[in-house]
Amino acid sequence: MSTKPRTHRFPSGPLVLDTRSLGRNPSATMEVRRGAAVPTTIGVEMIAIPEGSELDLDLTLTFVDEGILVTGSVTGSARVECARCLGEFRTDVGVDLTEMYAIEGKAAADAEEDEVRLLDGDMLDLEPALIDAFGLEFPLSPTCTDYGHETCINPDIPAPDGVSGDEEGRIDPRWAGLADKFGSLGSDEEGK
Ligand SMILES: [Zn+2]
Repeated sequence: MSTKPRTHRFPSGPLVLDTRSLGRNPSATMEVRRGAAVPTTIGVEMIAIPEGSELDLDLTLTFVDEGILVTGSVTGSARVECARCLGEFRTDVGVDLTEMYAIEGKAAADAEEDEVRLLDGDMLDLEPALIDAFGLEFPLSPTCTDYGHETCINPDIPAPDGVSGDEEGRIDPRWAGLADKFGSLGSDEEGK
């Protein structure tokens, strides 16, 4: 496969927008309101929008001099594994986008190439922008209480690493208050 000559293929897929109908008049706008199946999982191990699940795009494309500005919101449903109790649940997630896609050759000269999203011909691929936006949105160690649960959904909170089985994995009552107090700061255990 690697011996194949590198040919340009326009991107395609559920998150690629065809901008031809936007036209190329300054300030022309186009609404994009539709669903789109996620082509590859977006997120990290503990929280992600699984491949194939539906995103709702509610976007406005605006043609400006150097490219196309994408604004609006994208929402979907993520699968979360609680970092504290390992319970799994689904939650609604969303991001607001304000992304500039430059026409190749029209990007600001002082911008680093890898900082600029480019149109690929008339095609605009939302996926990298969504990966970045949800990457910023998603916590590394999500917990039940981050997502509207009053307490952890899994009553059998496993023992943190490094604790012997003597206590059957329960938090020592002397420390339970502390754990409650600091639990919201993140679930990273000391001495990882
Ligand atoms: Zn939990």
